[in-house]
Amino acid sequence: MAAPEKTVDVAIVGLGPVGAALGAMLARRGVSVCVAEKDGEIYPLPRAAHFDHEIMRLFQGLGIAEAVLAHARPAPAYRFQNAAGEVLMHFDMPPGASPSGWSPSYMFHQPGVEEALRSLLTGADVRLGRRFEGLVQDGEGVTVTLAGPRGPETVRAGYLVGCDGGASAVRKAIDGALDDYGFDEPWLVIDTRVGEGARLPDINLQICDPERPTTCVLMGPGRHRWEFMLKPGEDPAAVMDDAVIAGWLAPWGGLEHLTLERKAVYRFHGLVAQSWRSGRVFLAGDAAHQMPPFLGQGLCSGLRDAANLAWKLTEVLAGRADDALLDTYQPEREPNVRAIVEQAIFMGRVVCAIDPEVAKARDAQMIADRAKAAGAPRPPGPASTLAAGCILEGAAAAGRFFPQPWAGGSRLDDVLGDEAVMITRGAWSSDGPRSMALDAVALAPFRAALARWLDDQGADAVLVRPDRYVFGAGEPDVLARAWRAWSRQPVAA
Ligand SMILES: Cc1cc2nc3c(=O)[nH]c(=O)nc-3n(C[C@H](O)[C@H](O)[C@H](O)COP(=O)(O)OP(=O)(O)OC[C@H]3O[C@@H](n4cnc5c(N)ncnc54)[C@H](O)[C@@H]3O)c2cc1C
Repeated sequence: MAAPEKTVDVAIVGLGPVGAALGAMLARRGVSVCVAEKDGEIYPLPRAAHFDHEIMRLFQGLGIAEAVLAHARPAPAYRFQNAAGEVLMHFDMPPGASPSGWSPSYMFHQPGVEEALRSLLTGADVRLGRRFEGLVQDGEGVTVTLAGPRGPETVRAGYLVGCDGGASAVRKAIDGALDDYGFDEPWLVIDTRVGEGARLPDINLQICDPERPTTCVLMGPGRHRWEFMLKPGEDPAAVMDDAVIAGWLAPWGGLEHLTLERKAVYRFHGLVAQSWRSGRVFLAGDAAHQMPPFLGQGLCSGLRDAANLAWKLTEVLAGRADDALLDTYQPEREPNVRAIVEQAIFMGRVVCAIDPEVAKARDAQMIADRAKAAGAPRPPGPASTLAAGCILEGAAAAGRFFPQPWAGGSRLDDVLGDEAVMITRGAWSSDGPRSMALDAVALAPFRAALARWLDDQGADAVLVRPDRYVFGAGEPDVLARAWRAWSRQPVAA
């Protein structure tokens, strides 16, 4: 017999890192959440190994920065080199050099970070061992059917978010078609624990050797990862043989100094769902998009989805914003995701050249380009500026990622909190949004940096969204009026 139906604000299918983060972001804002996960435990082996400063800032916002740092370390640089060791591209990523104040890039051990995320869900209705079976939606909500250990269960929710990964059953349930970027390469992924005597680089490398394109990257403390491209006709089962792996790892000390933690062949591809919303159902994370890992941005993109959706769902459920605010989710996130997918595929094509003549021409071109380029190139990764959506288009800095000054041990976001906030030069009050003047005691450590930022924009105020993107900078009354209008009747994106 079906278990009694439970009603919540938001049901989430999939307790991977994106589902867990979204659940935590909603729960801390007082939204009731039910998360259904088919597996009984956290997947014990990492897929993602890298996240960027923006994601570290999200972890900070969730109060788990310290817990995450126990499983992470900064990545000081990312280099593409050819078989002869000549540098094709090099990106320095010095600690602290990011708009968030965190290091630009971190390498981490995924299960530890997932544990930290799940620890935030103690107050939520988390149902492990429940497989999503189907959904029915109407004007008021969504009824979700799960297959549980004691039979079918149903959950009634205002909204449903499918965070159920690349094979998303939720996506299929809403007939979500995927755009395929036509990149499809098999790679062997090897994760190791590092022993004494291993000869490891202390930066991340793409070794663009046409004989065997190879990725060699740090992971969390004490671990290292390699990815080896399989050539056409190579048998995935054969390359999983430990003797083959030992040979491929020989330049770094081989299996004498490295303990295999896992080996798996993945197909790297680029896929983006055409529609991320159907009525009251949304897709986030790998359910909405998948990309080759050459930029380490698949999970990062999913966590940005979660941050974008969490505050909007909260505002709509609390009756402070019209449901149409949720229509801005895909227009805000999709261009950023597609740009990253395309950039990751571009980098993949650089790495994956296996024709020696093509590789030789690539090397010559890239070495010449590098010699011509003035200054160090920007670290790879997203310029996640919003071009449209819930922003005051035309206002200074609208859609830009708001920097987070640090002063001593304190960080701006710890003062700003979870809601949208207007930071004003002088005293200002209105019936919303929440505001803080630069002379507020709490802002004292950051006053000079914030004043400089406002000077640069020629603005008296900035309205920062809960996900730390700028709604707009300008006159506080103008910003507040636009924000309130937006909430009541969002402009079509
Ligand atoms: C080799 C490799 C390296 C990568 N490196 C990086 C990197 O360095 N940086 C980065 O940012 N990204 C990286 N990625 C991508 C990253 O791993 C994914 O983008 C990320 O794991 C997606 O998280 P998710 O929560 O959306 O999906 P998943 O992690 O797939 O989680 C989905 C969850 O949904 C559950 N589920 C599925 N179906 C159902 C159902 N029917 N009912 C209930 N539950 C269900 C699953 O059990 C799972 O727990 C890499 C990927 C690979 C393969």
